[in-house]
Amino acid sequence: MNLLPLLEATFGFSAFRENQEAVCQALTAGRDVLLVMPTGAGKSLCYQLPALARAAAGHGTTAVVVSPLIALMDDQAAKLAAAGLRVARIHSGLSRDDARQACRDYLEGRLQFLFIAPERLRVPGFPEMLARRTPALVAVDEAHCISGWGHDFRPDYRTLGESLPLLRPAPIIALTATATPVVQQDIVEQLGLADPALFIHGFRRDNLAIEVVELSKPRRNEFILKFLTPVAARPAIVYAPSRKAADGLALELGSRFSAAAYHAGLDSPIRESVQRAFLDGRLEVVVATIAFGMGIDKPNIRTVIHAALPGSVEAYYQEIGRAGRDGLPSRAVLLHSFADRRIHESFLVRDYPPVEDLDRVVRQLNAEFQAADALCDRLAMDPGTFSRAVEKLAAQGAAQLALDGGVRLTGLSTWHFGYQRQLAHRRAQLESMAAFAETAQCRMAALVRHFGDRAARLCGRCDFCAPLAAEARTFSEPTPGQQCDLRRILQTLAAGPRGIARLFDESSVGGDRRTFDVLLDGLARAGLVSLSSETFTNAEGRQVTWRKVVLTPEGRTASVSGPLGVLLPQSSAALAQKRTKVAASPEPVPAPAPSLAQTELEGRLRAWRKDEAAKAGKPAFFVLSDAVLRAVAAAAPGSISQLLTINGIGPRKADLYGAPICALCRGEQTI
Ligand code: ADP
Ligand code: MG
Repeated sequence: MNLLPLLEATFGFSAFRENQEAVCQALTAGRDVLLVMPTGAGKSLCYQLPALARAAAGHGTTAVVVSPLIALMDDQAAKLAAAGLRVARIHSGLSRDDARQACRDYLEGRLQFLFIAPERLRVPGFPEMLARRTPALVAVDEAHCISGWGHDFRPDYRTLGESLPLLRPAPIIALTATATPVVQQDIVEQLGLADPALFIHGFRRDNLAIEVVELSKPRRNEFILKFLTPVAARPAIVYAPSRKAADGLALELGSRFSAAAYHAGLDSPIRESVQRAFLDGRLEVVVATIAFGMGIDKPNIRTVIHAALPGSVEAYYQEIGRAGRDGLPSRAVLLHSFADRRIHESFLVRDYPPVEDLDRVVRQLNAEFQAADALCDRLAMDPGTFSRAVEKLAAQGAAQLALDGGVRLTGLSTWHFGYQRQLAHRRAQLESMAAFAETAQCRMAALVRHFGDRAARLCGRCDFCAPLAAEARTFSEPTPGQQCDLRRILQTLAAGPRGIARLFDESSVGGDRRTFDVLLDGLARAGLVSLSSETFTNAEGRQVTWRKVVLTPEGRTASVSGPLGVLLPQSSAALAQKRTKVAASPEPVPAPAPSLAQTELEGRLRAWRKDEAAKAGKPAFFVLSDAVLRAVAAAAPGSISQLLTINGIGPRKADLYGAPICALCRGEQTI
């Protein structure tokens, strides 16, 4: 069936995007589908178009769309209505009358799309009401919410699978931007997808420059403030690790530009108004906990900053995916330090009480409901630990909770395994995230590999691929002393691969382990060594992970002779200053007596600067400070890459003024 005419007539798009057509064909033909494509790839169309095509062919009337968030539902519904389609929504934000009207319209076949919140399907009689007409199809958006293995798990999604069989023979499409193979399997099983067509595509984002910066916690707010100060860095989302952190940071950022916090601790009218203001462009920066941004469609987000290490690569990838949906260059900056990982580990210890605690609770329970408070007293257990233990038992299906606070055993006794598996899974997720942050490698390649895409093409944009274009990090040439140390490390490795700790001991370079790590990072970035995570099981049966360093063929050659071509990541102390080094007064450039040519060039640069400042209506130092201008005159860079090596010239300056400055330095006339 040719779907192109319908695509043009209804949605006004002249062509399918990559992979959309194949998905639409499968679903239109009545197959179940699992669709995993990144945020912004255009997944919605993959159920919307087939819904219309199926209805036109007489296979049902309405597409039933399950969606986890009101804002997301409203956004999609408004777009469809604007395209002239008949749409209704049923969620808790609407009146009973609206819901009743929606049901009537549905039953009388007047709707093309009906959006429902997942908890509706638990309302007695509601699924049966839907089943009185066969839907054209059922779409489950943000389907990863169904899986306890993913992030964003929503208990309301768990019961979805029970009501879906009533709506057959309608095909079901599950859509998500984030699903590792385990989560994919879980979605298929829980929704009861029958021999689904699998489409898992497009995790590479070509316009996203990812930077990872090691920075201690107390310095992060200031760093973020400076990073977001240039207008071009906004709109931006900053993900904060806690509500308190989000509130504090939003307040600080608010002193420079419009910023607001968004988290589950705020009333929903406030949250909605923050989201709307951000979507409309009235608010430039949102500082959010993970609750923000699922499914929102704002095309021009220029920066996403993580103020702390996220708990999983899946969550991280989805969050950075909100930047640059318009295809224009955008940046994602992750701030982390070893302390972040320890905080996550302490959360895990808190959230997953020891099995012995769970056993103690189980021993007090029986098949009858008992009041939880009384049980906790009897066990003399800390109430927090007690309630988490009960919650975990319930999650494993071993205990059941009543609305009045009663607890009883279900009789399922095999929960130990499931509990340990869940905990191990969370640990592994954290481990992957930490390894992502700590390993010098192409950031984008590492991400797409995580999602099962094996093509390891380098992105050319991240802090690994393009260190000189990095905005959150700075790199420097190694000093002669460091050159020696670098070569010593390579020579040690020539004898064979080493674990990091042993390599540090054997190569006996000066300095502490941190200094050593910087050298190693530089070698990895230059492709002279490669690092990998290895795991073995020790005598006590525990998994131990260690980092192995191997010399690459290039590294083998370099260990003997020739230039190393290594750039070293600068200590994080220098980072926070980088963004403002032009506006603030830079360190005075030590100036040997200038040559005549240099003085002339300086004069021409000053004249150009004056014009430029007048055009922008800003003081001259906004264009270039005197010190930077003199440094440029002294170095006379003929190319942008030479210009970028001058202290005080960042990528933004180079972008704005690089061409005229270099032309002047080459002695060419400019306007
Ligand atoms: P996802 O759900 O995958 O995050 P959406 O379905 O919200 O993405 O689509 C993102 C944007 O892409 C929307 O603004 C949508 O209108 C647009 N879009 C989708 N398909 C096409 C297409 N074939 N041509 C042009 N724009 C499209
Ligand atoms: Mg979507």
